[in-house]
Amino acid sequence: MPIKNYSFNPENYKSELLKILVEIDSEKTLSEQKFQQILTKHPKDDKGVFSKNNLVIGYKYLESKGDLAEVKSKLELLKKIQIKPVRTQSGVTPVTILTKPFPCPGQCIFCPNDIRMPKSYLSDEPGAQRAERNNFDPYLQTYDRLQALKNIGHNTDKVEIIILGGTWSDYKENYQIWFVKRCFQAMNDFGDGLEKDYLNLNSKLSKINYREEPKNTEVIRNTRSSILPEIKPSQTYNQIIAHQNLSEEKRESAKLESATWEELFLEQRRNETNNSRCVGLVIETRPDNISPQEVIRIRKLGCTKTQIGFQSLDDKVLELNHRGHNVKATRDAVELLRWAGFKIHAHWMANLYGSSPKEDLEDFNKLFSDPDFCPDELKVYPCSLIETAELMDYYKAGLWKPFSQEELLMVIIEVIKNTPEYCRLTRIIRDIPGTDIVVGNKTTNFRQLAEIQMDKMGIIRKDIRSREIKNQVVTMDELELKIMKYPSSIGEEQFLQYVTKDNKIVGFLRLSLPKLEKEKVQKFDHPFISELSNSAMIREIHVYGLAANIGEKNTQKSQHLGLGESLIKKAKEIAKEYSYQRISVISAIGTKEYYRKKGFNDGEMYQYLEL
Ligand code: SF4
Repeated sequence: MPIKNYSFNPENYKSELLKILVEIDSEKTLSEQKFQQILTKHPKDDKGVFSKNNLVIGYKYLESKGDLAEVKSKLELLKKIQIKPVRTQSGVTPVTILTKPFPCPGQCIFCPNDIRMPKSYLSDEPGAQRAERNNFDPYLQTYDRLQALKNIGHNTDKVEIIILGGTWSDYKENYQIWFVKRCFQAMNDFGDGLEKDYLNLNSKLSKINYREEPKNTEVIRNTRSSILPEIKPSQTYNQIIAHQNLSEEKRESAKLESATWEELFLEQRRNETNNSRCVGLVIETRPDNISPQEVIRIRKLGCTKTQIGFQSLDDKVLELNHRGHNVKATRDAVELLRWAGFKIHAHWMANLYGSSPKEDLEDFNKLFSDPDFCPDELKVYPCSLIETAELMDYYKAGLWKPFSQEELLMVIIEVIKNTPEYCRLTRIIRDIPGTDIVVGNKTTNFRQLAEIQMDKMGIIRKDIRSREIKNQVVTMDELELKIMKYPSSIGEEQFLQYVTKDNKIVGFLRLSLPKLEKEKVQKFDHPFISELSNSAMIREIHVYGLAANIGEKNTQKSQHLGLGESLIKKAKEIAKEYSYQRISVISAIGTKEYYRKKGFNDGEMYQYLEL
């Protein structure tokens, strides 16, 4: 692949870059202090020192010219100059992108109102800034993120697309199809090595500016005051965005934001064998937006996981916070998603209006003791007060206040402690810039503080994230297959995991075993997807280790121990024992080839094996 249009040209710094790389290579272990010393010794003109990004670009350039003969271990050298290695330790490179600002059916009192953003996001959050810079064009957001990751030395062959913003299911269908098609197009073009200039020609949307005048932050922040002459002071986020969308510029833009299913399927097929494959696609929505039709639609889009806002499992708290749905809606949504094999990534909030630390802990315990919930992944967001949220009025009236640091620490410790082995605690505390928080916790590393405290108290953390193997090299005879069974709203779940002696997790498979008897059929007509009739379901296979290039074999990394294959074999055995006629898998577009090689057939929306 040719060197792309980087503003940094390594050709101009060949000699300095080579000296730096050779010196770094000669250091057995490289401390940060030593690294800085080497950089300072070989400055970049009078413009300071080289960045790690510069070094990676320089490395690739010099290697392509055959100028790295003096380097003894190229792989080690590359590892030393890469930054943020944690980003791909779970085997997959995540790319988070945002939808455009759009009205949301929810009226949650804790939700921020920043009209430059899709509902609930703030324009100074890191991912949000990237989205705004790219005018919320999914193509540019995806491509730029992939390029940035590649520039700093990461593999970009296995990508998880995470689409965030408001309530996905409420965006118009043609917008959804177009949005996802553009993501696939970006992965495909990037994987094919197409140049950025080519992309600019194809992104007409990038000419459209979503940011409205005036740009005065104070005025924009208070969306309930008048920001445009014709908007009354009492207008809400939804009313303002709906009004904006009527402008000629937005209507013109909307015409471009449309695609057909056939156009999407074409890009999906192109992605099946592309160099940058989509191995997971995530959307976020509300429980009351999940219906059989919606489940089928997101599956056709290529979705494999849903982020879903539970927020609370208490009807009183949901009502007080104007969520607009009850706990039954959450139960129903989980049931439908589980039948369709989706991974369920729940959001749960502490410190909501009307709750207390004690009630929060009772509420949290329902998450994993009630079979109707049991999410696979969980984000825990204690409520933070944002100036533009309606909660501000409650705070001013003395009706709501944040937990004290001690109360919050106690709640978070209990949350971590009581999260079972099959769940991944993806986030604790939302990453909101401290300047946006009026009152409440501003410590972004609160999870770390809680974990330190737990270590002192001798409390073991069981969730997946705490046990991931990371870069540790393992061999098959060090591993044990552990199977954890638990009831779900549609039958039984089995969590198959390969673990080390100290319970570090190296790979896992989520197997759903829906009840076969008719009498279990409850709220919906099951199976509402006929190809899943009499089928067990592999909802997820994940093997940890550094993301290895597709086809790379000469390594002991865990992704090459054949764990995926062993897990599938075991899942098949179990499904047979339970008398299913077939086992299906909710494959992502970019994992279809993998399953075909394992003998799976292509169904309409799933792949399957007859048993
Ligand atoms: S549903 Fe989500 S995005 Fe919409 S108002 Fe509620 S919290 Fe905000």
